[in-house]
Amino acid sequence: MNEFPQVLTIAGTDSGGGAGVMADLKTMQARHVFGTAVVVAVTAQNTLGVQDFMAMPTKLIDEQCASLADDFNILACKTGMLADAERVHAVVENLRRYDFGPLTVDPVMIAKGGAPLLAEDAIQTVRDELLPLATVVTPNLPEAEKLTGMTIADNAAMVQAGHALQKLGAKNVIIKGGHEADPKMANDFVLLADGSAFWLTAPRIATVRTHGTGDTLSACLTAELAKGQSMAQAIQTAKAYVAGTIQDTIQVGHGHGPLNHWA
Ligand code: PLP
Repeated sequence: MNEFPQVLTIAGTDSGGGAGVMADLKTMQARHVFGTAVVVAVTAQNTLGVQDFMAMPTKLIDEQCASLADDFNILACKTGMLADAERVHAVVENLRRYDFGPLTVDPVMIAKGGAPLLAEDAIQTVRDELLPLATVVTPNLPEAEKLTGMTIADNAAMVQAGHALQKLGAKNVIIKGGHEADPKMANDFVLLADGSAFWLTAPRIATVRTHGTGDTLSACLTAELAKGQSMAQAIQTAKAYVAGTIQDTIQVGHGHGPLNHWA
């Protein structure tokens, strides 16, 4: 019997079930891959926001990675919320130690409600240590600005930022335009390892149920890479999957509701 494709998320939990490790595992399940998880931080969170979080001791991060490397055949992995510089560094060491396949780096910094999920001084560690390991990096506009030090005010600046992220070591780049000013469209810029580039344009969907969209995109991308899709195909599949989960919403909680992974 052929082995079932196995993937890994290295990220923070969301007790509310809508983002982080929980969104990643739900997405992986929906995309028919077996999801495993290394928990880097635990958040107390619901659809109203992040009330508190605590980062895991680095020893436990090392042990979780060792447990997975001992037993599983991980074909692709992603990183999400990494909390602080010490945790980013610990994750980088594990990614160097073990082969977990192509790496999707979702450089999670601030939750939609405003809660910081990465310490300000850890941005440099992500830039210097994690980005050079990234097969693909998936920042939104504010994250791309922080990583490159650029102000991204228009499409031309998005293209420049994409090239800057490649110079920092990420092989492929997708910059998510969901935070831009255009009220009608959400335009994502994709720059591939071979230098080719394209835009993914989609009409903006007016909804508050967008909690966990970034996690879901990067988890779906990771799943599709594990199943053997090309980078360009995997990015397009992930974008279409996220659009589907936003469009056909479910009612849960009183704030920024979670996505619908049965869509
Ligand atoms: N909580 C965790 C653990 C996350 O990883 C993320 C996003 O990456 C969030 C919360 C924030 O989700 P959102 O900004 O989509 O509400």
